[in-house]
Amino acid sequence: MHSVSRELKKSGKSIGFVPTMGYLHNGHISLIQESKKQNDVTVVSVFVNPTQFGPLEDFKKYPRDIEHDNKLLEEQNADYVFMPTEDEIYPYDFQTYVEVNEISKKFEGEFRPHHFKGVTTIVAVLFNCVQPDSAFLGQKDAQQAAVLKQMVKDLKYNIQIVVCPIIREPDGLAMSSRNIYLSKEEREQALILHEALLYARKLIEGKEMDPQKVIDNIRVMISQEPSISLDYVAIVNEYGFRETIFIEGGNEYYVLIAAWVGSTRLIDNELIRIKS
Ligand code: AMP
Repeated sequence: MHSVSRELKKSGKSIGFVPTMGYLHNGHISLIQESKKQNDVTVVSVFVNPTQFGPLEDFKKYPRDIEHDNKLLEEQNADYVFMPTEDEIYPYDFQTYVEVNEISKKFEGEFRPHHFKGVTTIVAVLFNCVQPDSAFLGQKDAQQAAVLKQMVKDLKYNIQIVVCPIIREPDGLAMSSRNIYLSKEEREQALILHEALLYARKLIEGKEMDPQKVIDNIRVMISQEPSISLDYVAIVNEYGFRETIFIEGGNEYYVLIAAWVGSTRLIDNELIRIKS
């Protein structure tokens, strides 16, 4: 990968990078298409990163289908696929980690304590291998994008982070490799997450400026689906990911939801821009 990126740089080509854990769907494809629009060459990595999974999480059973991924990547004309092995990334004596302090601690970081340390470490390693000019991330993992933006800023990576919109199924469920875990009934029940986010948007656009009231309404709505158990609902500033005390015109907010549907943990969010 180093020699490929060196050659590309020498010939003056811009490199767009899409890091993924594979089992690709239309969400990933939208990132690849955006990268291709903005760059001469697009590199897609496929690596299920063990360090971002907790000891009781789904690393072992995380869905993998390299053949299908390769077929999709070929269809999309991705220029390079980077599929390192676990030993190449984490040899037995690996001992250097990258950690972003503040933004990593709340929400996903609270419920998955080692998750972001694994994410920032692997993305730092991948950035060093791929040497991209820009990296394409999904708003689906909004906190991850905020953490990685902070890492890029602090470590002075000369890389532009581009956050692309959430791609959903026609019924509103945010696309995710983990949706495969859902039974037919759970798949149906999970729709309430997006419905609750749309309800939050409606409340805020209807001038409900008290975030706690919006959050309470979402909690009540989701509690009507007894098979769903919430980890958190929060409203944060788009920049900095801090919980907001009141919603103000002229700002952008994420409404965040993390919830268990049976034994599957899903996250979703809605970005709301308030006119001044
Ligand atoms: P993953 O393979 O789940 O690690 O995701 C790789 C990248 O794809 C991340 O930047 C995700 O935010 C992004 N992504 C995942 N699902 C979606 C989606 N439904 N819409 C847009 N981007 C997504």
